[in-house]
Amino acid sequence: MYFIAGILSIIIVVLAIFQTKKIENIEEKEEEKINFESSETIELYNTQNDKIENVNLNYYLLCVVASEIPFKYEYEAIKAQVVVARTYLFNKIVNNLEEKGDVCDDYRHCQAYTPLEKLNEIWKNKGFTDKEIEEGKEKIQKAILDTKNQVIIYNGKIIDALFHASSPQRTEDAKAIWSCEDIPYLKSVENVEDETYENRNSQTILPYSVFKNTLIEKGYVENLTDEEMLNTKISEYTDSGRVKTIQVGNYKIKAEDLRTLFGIKSTNFTLSVDSENIVFNVIGYGHGVGLSQVGANTYAKLGKTYDEIIHHYYTGVDIVDGYEYTKEK
Ligand SMILES: [Zn+2]
Repeated sequence: MYFIAGILSIIIVVLAIFQTKKIENIEEKEEEKINFESSETIELYNTQNDKIENVNLNYYLLCVVASEIPFKYEYEAIKAQVVVARTYLFNKIVNNLEEKGDVCDDYRHCQAYTPLEKLNEIWKNKGFTDKEIEEGKEKIQKAILDTKNQVIIYNGKIIDALFHASSPQRTEDAKAIWSCEDIPYLKSVENVEDETYENRNSQTILPYSVFKNTLIEKGYVENLTDEEMLNTKISEYTDSGRVKTIQVGNYKIKAEDLRTLFGIKSTNFTLSVDSENIVFNVIGYGHGVGLSQVGANTYAKLGKTYDEIIHHYYTGVDIVDGYEYTKEK
């Protein structure tokens, strides 16, 4: 009896210690919120003026997440995007992937990054009140602190945390789209997305002259007749149901190349061709690999937490608290 009472009191003491620790952590977090300039800085390559700027890490994450997704998104979706953005950055640093700085501000090469000043302007132009803007920023900052140091790893190594806007029904396998090596954590997975997303359906209309001249200019074809263009068709699909290649005349062209060449929103398209235009009827937005931002928000609405969302989009990964690395100069 005394023995059990003894054990119980030890448990109570241990719980009390944990409780204090928790309170300490919260205080620590609040301090950082006031002064988030205190933590680490990164080297951001500004592609506009060709200069490298030292930027506070958390400030960088705030700007990236605010540039990448609406702050009105669900809190768990924002947390997921924070962990993805941090992982994406650390992967660049650890593997020394950039020519200049740790990361650049160009969304086509790295992650979208708009400085806060500019973001404020954009939000105001969109009609958000000062209060809404303040609350939006606080929400993202809280997500940064609530997931402090967390990054995604696979097999002990930091992952290439690719993400995109929207891929209704299924995401894409990295290997299928880029013909790269197999990347076990970037597989095609089922995806549920809110159907009201504004870029869910889109259309790209290319007049024959634009289609032909661009393909000639970029070295994809030597020439194309009107008849050949009229017979343009999809020749291959990937396993996830996206277009892999199209056939025009004697040429096979990768859908992913067409997407980037002509600004088509995704490779999930059907074709309709008439005597003047090649029309791409498109579903979704982006390359379709990794986390879907619209999907993450939808899953958050359905009650999924940020770690469940991350585990859903990146197969077989772990989320770890901190990742030590030595930066080589
Ligand atoms: Zn870059």
